[in-house]
Amino acid sequence: MGIGIDIGGTAIKGGIVDHLGVIQEERLVITQSQLGYDQVLNDLVLLIKELQQLSPKEATVGIGIPGILSADGATVVSCPNLNWQNRAVKQDLERALSLKVLLVNDATAACIAEAAFGSTRGRSSSVMLTLGTGVGGGVIINDRVISGAHGVASEVGHMIMEENFYDCNCGKNGCLETFASATALIRYCQKRIAEGVGTDLKANENFDARRIFEAAKAEDSLALAAVNRLARYLGWAIANISDLIDPEIFTIGGGLSSAGDFLLEKIKAETVSRLTYPAFAMPEIVLATFKNEAGMIGAANLGRFI
Ligand SMILES: [Zn+2]
Repeated sequence: MGIGIDIGGTAIKGGIVDHLGVIQEERLVITQSQLGYDQVLNDLVLLIKELQQLSPKEATVGIGIPGILSADGATVVSCPNLNWQNRAVKQDLERALSLKVLLVNDATAACIAEAAFGSTRGRSSSVMLTLGTGVGGGVIINDRVISGAHGVASEVGHMIMEENFYDCNCGKNGCLETFASATALIRYCQKRIAEGVGTDLKANENFDARRIFEAAKAEDSLALAAVNRLARYLGWAIANISDLIDPEIFTIGGGLSSAGDFLLEKIKAETVSRLTYPAFAMPEIVLATFKNEAGMIGAANLGRFI
């Protein structure tokens, strides 16, 4: 059993996760980041205490945070969703709770959930790519999460691929997530429509990524081009990561992974043609097992991988 917390911009979710990775109890509070750090911390303490009462033997709590942590995992250096900068979250929580607190980036928590109980279980080296509004990621080598000298490793979404027509939220141009996220798909289609390209997507001005995938499956030429473009950049990224660390397996999660085999097969095809040693070093590429619950399940199992 373990207590895992997933802090998001709109809600903080907490769960008691059993030894099979199943959430036995779940609690949720609204993230009141507009009321400041102390309020969110207080809500977090109350949530954890409630879970602690349900599972009194727990000595550790793991927390996934949508931001950048210091290399020692004690300080949240930057978390734009919560408006936190240089907050000593580990120390502040451990003072308020009689528990050891472990912090991790939320994409890394999802990567751990997959390695502990999901699609990459039993593999000592794996890489996760989470395709949502942006692109997140996690890297595990020899059953240990790679966080780097400054705590900012595994930011696969901000690898620069090539110039793009719009800048990334991080301030750079050319990041993977500007080619391979839901935002990227929508912006690419909007741009091509503005250039006069015909498409069924025009029927609904507020089309989302799900609609683009539906149209692509129905062979709408613009939607298909947009999805193929996304898969091409993911294939490049996977080939690049393979050249660098040669993991056994890649897993694709996040909202876009619900496109399933339609997307997965395209990514595989784009990867194989860019590998340096395709004859014997093709990594397995699979879809992630967990969806919204990944953060809690991974956070509850941090101790095994960090
Ligand atoms: Zn970026």
